Amino acid sequence: MSFDYDLFVIGGGSGGVRAARIAASEYGARVGLAEESRMGGTCVIRGCVPKKLMIFASQAEGIVEETRGYGWTTADAGAFDWTMFRNKLDAELTRLEGAYTGGLVAADVEIHKQRARLVDAHTVELADGQRLSAKHILIAVGGRPQRPGIEGEELGLISDDLFLMEKLPGRVLVIGGGFIACEFATILQGLGAETVLSYRGNAVLRGFDEEMRRHATEQLRVVGVELKLGTVPAKLEKDGERTRVIWSDGAQESYDAVMFATGRTPNTEGLGLTELGVKLGARGEVVVDEWSQTSVPSIFAVGDVTDRVNLTPVAIREGHSFADTIFGAKPRKVDHGLVASAVYVRPHEVATIGLTEEEAAAKGPHEVYVASFRPMRSLFAGSDARVIMKLLVDAGTKKVTGCHIFGPEAGEMIQLVAIPMGMGATKADFDAAIAVHPTLAEEIVTMRRPTRHIGGAHPDKTVGSA
Ligand code: NDP
Repeated sequence: MSFDYDLFVIGGGSGGVRAARIAASEYGARVGLAEESRMGGTCVIRGCVPKKLMIFASQAEGIVEETRGYGWTTADAGAFDWTMFRNKLDAELTRLEGAYTGGLVAADVEIHKQRARLVDAHTVELADGQRLSAKHILIAVGGRPQRPGIEGEELGLISDDLFLMEKLPGRVLVIGGGFIACEFATILQGLGAETVLSYRGNAVLRGFDEEMRRHATEQLRVVGVELKLGTVPAKLEKDGERTRVIWSDGAQESYDAVMFATGRTPNTEGLGLTELGVKLGARGEVVVDEWSQTSVPSIFAVGDVTDRVNLTPVAIREGHSFADTIFGAKPRKVDHGLVASAVYVRPHEVATIGLTEEEAAAKGPHEVYVASFRPMRSLFAGSDARVIMKLLVDAGTKKVTGCHIFGPEAGEMIQLVAIPMGMGATKADFDAAIAVHPTLAEEIVTMRRPTRHIGGAHPDKTVGSA
């Protein structure tokens, strides 16, 4: 049977673009790709990239304050010009969008700038009614922000809206305690908005190491974000130009803007997947095996739509592995077990890889090495901020099973720690590296004695503590 394409990709985000480009340019596959919005997807257009640029913008006041501690007489950072920043940001995203499109065009991928849905195991239908056939179809449509299902929720913004605002809100409420809530709370506060974060738990970043959660929560408070912990909004209503929030305990307050950062959901609605027999999970995610293959053999899926590890570099690896496996005769699976990530809160980031202390304790005997100190740079400037570095070491094998860093540029540091950890390094391997002095990162190779022992009886100790 002859097909229009060897591969048709639905979705021009990080995972889809990588799969299309590798299949076409490395392996000569005939590839088509449909994207209904801007090329680049969540990460490039309404996620990681604009968010990180906003983080940089939001650091100004903190930097100025620090320079004052070094003898500069600068009064403050001055006024922030949101319109100028937003226009510049849009130009940068347009440049990146062009680079993504250019890469696909150079690889001879045919781009269809419209929505596509599946009609059978080998056919997609475009919004203009055109039907195209392909030997393989890749679903790479990502996810979208999810509101919590309360009355009046349409009055609240989602993260996509933040990059498009006409002006910065005066007083803003961010609802949620995950990656997006924490990052946007520090961004908005740093750009000058009076920011309140409301989270239903008692410390943000559930799922992270508890010690890191405590420090991240405290830092939000220290940088000026007002925390409302243990609270759940029950209803939103209009209050003139503002939005009134009514909490589940009856309390109420009005804000210039309310933003939901209450999780994301896979973008599977209206794609024709269930009609075709493609199995979906409880959250609407496409269920795939270790080769990213769905329950329909010609259809594959990568990235956030599969709800495995929802991070851009993971989607890219999944897309690349799919292309290598199917078109390059180089079978390659993705190991989702050891993935580093960072939450870009300010001024200290939270970065993590491997087991948390709580997970390590549940697994068995572990040594915990913790360095907690005031870094020379901010200490000199008069700040009390502490850096925390933690290594978890399996008491039997002595392998490093987890690393957590709370500090400036922690994301940069964890990327480098991911290399030895991926190679199965032991604590002795870390110790063998001679420190670079004076740096923050040197603490990773200079922690000599365990701070505590967890996870039951230790092989080289008679008694272990929990
Ligand atoms: P998360 O799942 O990380 O956080 C969602 C938050 O919303 C949690 O605090 C959750 O509370 C809360 N929540 C969920 N439902 C409700 C509800 N009905 N009422 C009140 N609160 C609720 O989602 P995000 O949207 O922050 O991020 C989505 C994903 O995007 C992340 O998991 C991550 O993979 C990715 N991401 C990565 C970034 C990075 O690498 N730096 C940056 C941004 C996003 P609870 O904890 O109690 O469940």
